[in-house]
Amino acid sequence: MGVGKLTGSSADRRLRRPESGLISSGSAQPAQPNQPNRRTNPANPSTAQDPESAEHTVSVIVQKFGGSSVADAEGIKRVARRIGETKQAGHDVCVVVSAMGDTTDDLLDLANKVTPNPPGREMDMLLTAGERISMALLAMAIADLGREARSFTGSQAGVITDAAHGKARILDVTPGRITQALAAGHIAIVAGFQGVSQDSKDITTLGRGGSDTTAVALAAALNADVCEIYTDVDGVFTADPRILPTARKLKVLSSEEMLDLAASGSKILHLRCVEYGRRHGIPIHVRSSWSKQEGTWILEDPYGPGSDMEAPIITGIAHDSSEAKITVVGVPDELGKAADIFTVIADAGINIDMIVQNVSAVATGRTDISFTMPSADAPRGLQVLQAAKAAIGFEELRFEDEIGKVSLVGAGMRTNPGISAKLFRALADAGINIEMISTSEIRISVVTRAEQLEAAVRAAHTAFELDSTEGEAIVYGGTGR
Ligand code: ASP
Ligand code: MG
Repeated sequence: MGVGKLTGSSADRRLRRPESGLISSGSAQPAQPNQPNRRTNPANPSTAQDPESAEHTVSVIVQKFGGSSVADAEGIKRVARRIGETKQAGHDVCVVVSAMGDTTDDLLDLANKVTPNPPGREMDMLLTAGERISMALLAMAIADLGREARSFTGSQAGVITDAAHGKARILDVTPGRITQALAAGHIAIVAGFQGVSQDSKDITTLGRGGSDTTAVALAAALNADVCEIYTDVDGVFTADPRILPTARKLKVLSSEEMLDLAASGSKILHLRCVEYGRRHGIPIHVRSSWSKQEGTWILEDPYGPGSDMEAPIITGIAHDSSEAKITVVGVPDELGKAADIFTVIADAGINIDMIVQNVSAVATGRTDISFTMPSADAPRGLQVLQAAKAAIGFEELRFEDEIGKVSLVGAGMRTNPGISAKLFRALADAGINIEMISTSEIRISVVTRAEQLEAAVRAAHTAFELDSTEGEAIVYGGTGR
């Protein structure tokens, strides 16, 4: 078992990445070359007595491998070797895996062929099978390398959730069996994306992409030094490298920025994983399972005092084509009408994103109100509004599915004027019309036609000089499904 000394308290963890020695074997260059590597010799347990390391003496690393990293037997063996190297370097390793390749989608398709309305409980039971397959195979592959591994379902690993099937929230993690396994020198492998409901005792899932959240939650519960998220690209890029090969890999970004990027459609990390990591001060290292390159660090405050990094004006660009727009036409310009419309929508459990209200025409005293929401929720939105048409007194509803949203995120936006002007100019020069706009302190989002979405990302990326000078980004695997 490793006895690497830790860098300090969780307050410390918020501000900087762990020392290079604590990062898994894959990182070639030291993260902070100016600091001596204080990790103690794993072969010398006496260093565990060092008072500075009293807090805890073993470095725990959580490593999460996504579906594309374990897509086939070869991938599983490659990942097993990688885990073995981390273990060899003296760390305790807890691994979280996703289902192999497109397994989750395939299981969903299968269920929908059996019935258009699968019960949530049974759907979760079905989907969690995907992660069970990969965890068992990975444990076998590790055993084949002569190391001890133990696989655990989410429930066995102590991932306690609420009872919301398909979108459960983690309430608590009680990782007794994992700490036991680690103490016995075993590599623990946990099925991602799943837990067990405290109330119903039923098996739950955390929502698509939820294995990231499992990993960070376990990292927090195990007081791990780092949560490594292994994926099919080399880190977090300035834009999705699948649509923009000139995107540049980021060395670091703040959890606040990552939160806005994830909420704006960036698929690199599950939104709740970023929220969880932020709340618990877990440094997240996003990197590729195919290469040994240093990836991207997501830290609480990388631009704060003591850092030599300035917050970039634009850190990254996210795009999202999963939303739709409803326009309520001819709304009487009277007190309380907007409240009426959005109460109807809220009561239907629909989360809206952007809202635009036009200036009302003087002649008619009526106005139009447009808003966006996930496409999947739009039919229900139309239905409940139609039912309230007479009561609210609007003229008609219009619906558009072919929209796209581009969001620019950067902590430096707070202190730099002119970002909107520069973006709008770039889009205009590219012949792209803006249909809606919304901004927050560190984000600006615009809605365009869906077919112009990629062009909009490209135009913004170039205008803010984000293009890489080091060649094209590599996408190692995955179908992007
Ligand atoms: N297998 C699940 C999904 O495809 C969870 C995950 O990959 O994180 O969404
Ligand atoms: Mg994922």
